[in-house]
Amino acid sequence: MLKPNINYAQLKDSYLFYNIAQKTEAYQQKHPTENFLKLGIGDVSLPLCSAVITALHKAVDDQSEKDSFHGYMPECGAPFLREAIAGHYKKRNISLDSDEIFVSSGASDELGDILDLFDKSNSALVIEPAYPAYVDANIMAGRRIIHYTSEFGNFTPDPDENVQADIIYICSPNNPTGAVYTREGLKKWVDYANRLGSVIIFDAAYEAFIEDGDIPHSIFEIDGARSCAVEICSLSKTAGFTGTRLGYTVIPDGLERMGMSLNKMWVRNRTTKTNGVSYIIQRGAEAVFTDEGQRQIRQNIEVYKKNAAVLMNALDEAGVSYCGGKNAPYIWLKCPDGMSSWEFFDYLLENIQVIGTPGVGFSEKSDGYFRFTTFGDAEDTAVAAERLVKLLKK
Ligand code: PLP
Repeated sequence: MLKPNINYAQLKDSYLFYNIAQKTEAYQQKHPTENFLKLGIGDVSLPLCSAVITALHKAVDDQSEKDSFHGYMPECGAPFLREAIAGHYKKRNISLDSDEIFVSSGASDELGDILDLFDKSNSALVIEPAYPAYVDANIMAGRRIIHYTSEFGNFTPDPDENVQADIIYICSPNNPTGAVYTREGLKKWVDYANRLGSVIIFDAAYEAFIEDGDIPHSIFEIDGARSCAVEICSLSKTAGFTGTRLGYTVIPDGLERMGMSLNKMWVRNRTTKTNGVSYIIQRGAEAVFTDEGQRQIRQNIEVYKKNAAVLMNALDEAGVSYCGGKNAPYIWLKCPDGMSSWEFFDYLLENIQVIGTPGVGFSEKSDGYFRFTTFGDAEDTAVAAERLVKLLKK
């Protein structure tokens, strides 16, 4: 009889978004006229910018003519997009060969797939609270997880020389805490990884939200990162591609372990397991990296940043402790009056119909914390902020 992957039995059931939907639906059945203000799920509310839409339309037309039609795309990404991404890094003084950039259909897919490069016996260090896919993808593969707890006031901890980790996840700007690593903080992890021979998986999905000039957008801004890091990025939040799907991964040429090049292994992996990302979507993504595309996506990001400012002002006025919101689209707060994450969820739902995300969904130790996202509709966010002040101000 077939033996299933028994590691799945070790996964904790994630009822987070299911429970949110159930509770919201139950409330709506009792109060059908109430409108919900959604500050919970991390999906964007603004559509794709016009530069992307124009490029997508043009690419559809290309597919209608024999001379411009594209069939299978190169598995690791179209040269035009790999070069456009390399050009984007160049603006930050990071020199990448286009062969070091792999186009993907999103960061989530890549975070799971990339683990094919590593042996099952490796441990995976996850700084928690964290995006749940880091832990779950490694549990599915049967790896040992090192739960590395970070605390309110220091969500960007340093490495601990007494802990030996093989795979290290760093997400900056962070989901869910909104924290960002400084150059000095990242350098400590890079030095640690190079010393131990570990590999850092740097999740830069929210780099476009960084405002402070001295905060690194890429791990490759740090000396020594080319010999110990892989970077995973996404256009989901940067350019509204959550439903369009496109991401990219950087694996430096010289990144080797036991004489094996991770870049060459990944080429082998992609050419075996994928047939490339759609030509049309890659053309849409290419438009993001043009000057006009960059100008337009910044306008959308500014809307989310205004949402962040509105929510932060409301929390300040209400006297609620929080972090994030500045260089990241997430605000992480301490539930008032000692409420648990789910108690606070119910309190907001029942009193002001504001829906957020219970922090306990991101780590067992995060009960008593809560996450707001800034991706919601601007008017809804402003109304939610007013209601929060009225409800929580003492
Ligand atoms: N990484 C982090 C930290 C995220 O929060 C998300 C999505 O919310 C992803 C990766 C996934 O992005 P994508 O839509 O490209 O799969």
